[in-house]
Amino acid sequence: MSNDTDVLIIGGGAAGMMAAIAAAGGGSRVCITEKNEKLGKKLFITVKGRCNLTNACPADEIFDHILSNKKFLYSAVNGFTNADVMAFFEDNGVHLKTERGGRVFPVSDHSSDIIKALEKSIRSLGVSIRLNTGIKSLIIKDGICKGALTYSGERITAGSVIVATGGLSYPSTGSTGDGYRFAAAAGVKVTERYPGLVPFIIAGDICPRLQGLSLKHISVRITRRDNGKKLYEGFGEAMFTHFGVSGPLILTASSEIAPDEYTAAPVLHIDLKPALSSDELDKRLIRDFEKAGNREFKNSLSELLPSKLIPVIVGLSGIDPYKKVNSVTRQERRTLGGLLKDLKMDIVSTGGYEEAVITRGGVDVKEINPKSFEAKKVRGLYFAGEVLDVDAHTGGYNLQIAWSTGYAAGAGAADTQG
Ligand SMILES: Cc1cc2nc3c(=O)[nH]c(=O)nc-3n(C[C@H](O)[C@H](O)[C@H](O)COP(=O)(O)OP(=O)(O)OC[C@H]3O[C@@H](n4cnc5c(N)ncnc54)[C@H](O)[C@@H]3O)c2cc1C
Repeated sequence: MSNDTDVLIIGGGAAGMMAAIAAAGGGSRVCITEKNEKLGKKLFITVKGRCNLTNACPADEIFDHILSNKKFLYSAVNGFTNADVMAFFEDNGVHLKTERGGRVFPVSDHSSDIIKALEKSIRSLGVSIRLNTGIKSLIIKDGICKGALTYSGERITAGSVIVATGGLSYPSTGSTGDGYRFAAAAGVKVTERYPGLVPFIIAGDICPRLQGLSLKHISVRITRRDNGKKLYEGFGEAMFTHFGVSGPLILTASSEIAPDEYTAAPVLHIDLKPALSSDELDKRLIRDFEKAGNREFKNSLSELLPSKLIPVIVGLSGIDPYKKVNSVTRQERRTLGGLLKDLKMDIVSTGGYEEAVITRGGVDVKEINPKSFEAKKVRGLYFAGEVLDVDAHTGGYNLQIAWSTGYAAGAGAADTQG
């Protein structure tokens, strides 16, 4: 009896859609199943609906931004590069622009244009799209994957199956970790998973008081509580939320630190004035205090700090807020300078998957062929996208991984049919 389809793709996100295009382009009959009512729900919300689809950096620099298993990705990312991604969308009618840091967006600033282009391409290749079709389990016999069962009990037989079900982050978009379950049931190892590119939850009441404040051009350092060992150092922008800190710099930091370090509650150090040495900052404070004359200390920092931060810093400095600034002692001023160079906060944990941009960990890449993306132990079973143990910095690199691995898996699965 013949199969319902040559290639069955589970998941209509970035990786699944690109896999469909590569497999159908290779001449296979392709069916894509998506449990949501539409394709690309997560793509839709990327960067507030703008979709930073890749990065325009020189192709080999992509690897500098991949955090886990970059060697495993060499073949896929070189096989379908950032230039290929940009050419694909331009050829399909999406005009692109490059912003700060090489981030590539559609000129329209609408992620929906990216989804429409993918969908149009998929339809033109004759791919069967089955929405509202959640896959419950894989059909595996004698070490060969032969299709999948839907939640409604339907059996879809296929020559090969690509699992592109995403990770665990933003589960409301459909990524609820089903692919890990499929892998484990097939005997394919899955590594421990953690939220990645995620805000920090901070102890105490400082963050709620600063909620909404964004600080540009700051540097942060994260250290171990027990021995002060540096875990991360970086420069950029951070933002306070009602529970902690977020923003590009913090998201990057969260993924650079080994997950088990969070159990020891590391310390976040913020340098509010990284352009000034401690001595230069002290001189600046002397000048500001001289200018402020006999004003109260609490009213003397407006040229140095954003207004929301002033009462917090005044409180932490231990200096009497009503003291005339010209009677602040040298020691007090030095303490204040120390605070501005090293504002310490206790990291309780990272946020959860509801606010994580990416999942760290996933299907163990040692179990996957890096060229075809087929599982070494199960013939006809392929994995692509965030379900794999791969992740990267913000800047379009995670979607580049999804496009590249999707393309490689689609081509690999189509080859199996040939
Ligand atoms: C808020 C946010 C902003 C982001 N912004 C960017 C950005 O600007 N640039 C960037 O590079 N990366 C960004 N990312 C990361 C990027 O979106 C992901 O890396 C990428 O979407 C992963 O693609 P994927 O196809 O592997 O998974 P997904 O896009 O998650 O797609 C998986 C699909 O599989 C479906 N599915 C799951 N289980 C089943 C099942 N059992 N049966 C059928 N279907 C199933 C899901 O419904 C889903 O549609 C962002 C992520 C978030 C959360």
